[in-house]
Amino acid sequence: MFYLTEQFFSIQGEGKYAGVPSYFLRTGGCNLNCPGFGAEYEVDGEIRLGCDTYFAVDSSYAKAWIKVDNSDVLISTLKKEFNTIGYNPHIVITGGEPLMYHSDMVFYDVVKWLIDEGIEITFETNGTIEIDFEKYPAYKSCIFALSLKLANSGEPAQKRIVTQALENVQTYAKEAFLKFTIDAQLVESTARDEIQDIQDILPELDVYCMPVGESRDTIWKNDKAVFEFCMKHNFCYSDRLHIRVFDTTQGV
Ligand code: SF4
Repeated sequence: MFYLTEQFFSIQGEGKYAGVPSYFLRTGGCNLNCPGFGAEYEVDGEIRLGCDTYFAVDSSYAKAWIKVDNSDVLISTLKKEFNTIGYNPHIVITGGEPLMYHSDMVFYDVVKWLIDEGIEITFETNGTIEIDFEKYPAYKSCIFALSLKLANSGEPAQKRIVTQALENVQTYAKEAFLKFTIDAQLVESTARDEIQDIQDILPELDVYCMPVGESRDTIWKNDKAVFEFCMKHNFCYSDRLHIRVFDTTQGV
């Protein structure tokens, strides 16, 4: 059994596949909180800090999440959706942290079905979950967008960097890349050193950097600094197309 917070057809807005029409499955729950990303939201009168997908992270929102306890039901929904779209789009499984559910059999059955249909799957993951690729071989056929968190996330290093989890992805997955969300302040301080520490673990992966921001306004505050940082260090700049186009609207 796992939780979905939303599912929708859109265009991938970030990373290596930015611009590709994609069907999104967003799971509920995360093993991190990332208060440093500074998205403010209110629960029962209390102001909390989190990331731009706090509604898929904070269990206070769980009442609105959809419980998926039968893979056939979700597969049937996906078949109908793809029929309406007219083709089988790239699937992005995001969160929260979707790989919290990697060993859940309902979740795994859906992943296996997608792979058997020849559908490309990208996991948007924080890279902290250790996957046994021999026990769950369908994950070998998936793409891993490793959206690792840096110091600006407000999470301690030992929680956000799990070396074995990263090495497993680099060894077994058919494709993976690194994606960092950074702000102007981090560019001026520890971003380069922090990314280097991660590249020491994952030397083969390309690096994409994108500006912090849950809205157009906050992205505008960081984009130029990140742009120049990428030029200086030979990283790929990734914009956040969905926020540029739709601002803070969810489900697009
Ligand atoms: S790991 Fe990702 S989804 Fe989880 S709290 Fe951090 S930014 Fe949000």
